[in-house]
Amino acid sequence: MASSSGLSRRAFGRLIGKGMAAAALPPVLAAAPAPAAAEGIVRLSANENPYGPSPAALRAMREALGLAWRYPDEAVEQLASDLAKLHGMAKESFLIGDGSSEILELAASAFTGPGRKLSMAEPSFEAIGVHARAHGAEVVAVPLDAGYAHDLKKMAAAGAGLFYLCNPNNPTGSITPKARVRAFLEAVPSSAAVLVDEAYHHYADSPDYESVVPLVATHPNLIVARTFSKIHGMAGLRLGYAIAQPAAIEKLAAHAAWDPVNIVALAAGRASLLDAPYVAEGRRRNATTKAGVVAELGRLGYDVVPSQTNFVLIDTRKEAKPTIEALRERGILVGRLFPALPRHLRVTVGTPAQMRRFLRAFAAVLA
Ligand code: PLP
Repeated sequence: MASSSGLSRRAFGRLIGKGMAAAALPPVLAAAPAPAAAEGIVRLSANENPYGPSPAALRAMREALGLAWRYPDEAVEQLASDLAKLHGMAKESFLIGDGSSEILELAASAFTGPGRKLSMAEPSFEAIGVHARAHGAEVVAVPLDAGYAHDLKKMAAAGAGLFYLCNPNNPTGSITPKARVRAFLEAVPSSAAVLVDEAYHHYADSPDYESVVPLVATHPNLIVARTFSKIHGMAGLRLGYAIAQPAAIEKLAAHAAWDPVNIVALAAGRASLLDAPYVAEGRRRNATTKAGVVAELGRLGYDVVPSQTNFVLIDTRKEAKPTIEALRERGILVGRLFPALPRHLRVTVGTPAQMRRFLRAFAAVLA
């Protein structure tokens, strides 16, 4: 289909792929968001939830727009109270963040620096390593073990100021078994902090997985990060939170901006927390679509790392970079290259229609 600029969608996708869209388009089109072009592109690159926020959250956002003139202090308190009820903990055990990314940044600020290392897995979600380095900290990246779990014994040996566990892990989709995480929490000295990132918590259903939130009560050095970007479908709104004992929350909060979260996101978060059926439906849809994708990949002869998340990591058995680029040429955006796993492709589980398009393109590209 040709756009008003005379550019076909396919051509526009190719331009985006080369990072040239803004330069090639007339200024008026380059400046505006391009929904028509975006329609033709399948985004399976950022582990977003293609179904978006719950209808209740959308209603709450529309209502909250009228409150945009207010600072969000009361709304922050209300969400913290709701979270406290949900988790059966004190309100002071919660810090609301501008996405869980902010919580990761605050933990790096509070617990790493020169002489205070960050210990994390490789590959894992890289953001916190970037922040720790910016604070002058050494980052010790410990390869995942053969089962794609965190090698907690080696990670503990790093003697860090902050340990980062991503469970389930991004980009592998794998989990670190609960018994090992418990043993690790007992072994780590209380002078070091442990941040467990549970961004994908809602998608995990393995009996070997557990959330460590109930362990916060007995571990003063444990911080858990959660997000509204995944199962709640609100990645663009930016909302996340930390759970920890009040003293640890205070240490994090000391590094935070004042009022970093907007009133619309807070209202949406409150409504979405109450919409448990929507969360359950999101889990079910993800599990069903993921099972279909894994089965089809198997039929095509490709293995995936067993996934406890809303994405799959496919072993393409050859250098993945050309495949990533060839898919992009076809309008299918998949995860970036992970240097530790150069043959693997990370693909978000989208809608069934999106996954059909991905599978067709994947089969054609790798044929
Ligand atoms: N942690 C992990 C493991 C992630 O994969 C992501 C985003 O993909 C984030 C944190 C950041 O999430 P947020 O959107 O809450 O900042």
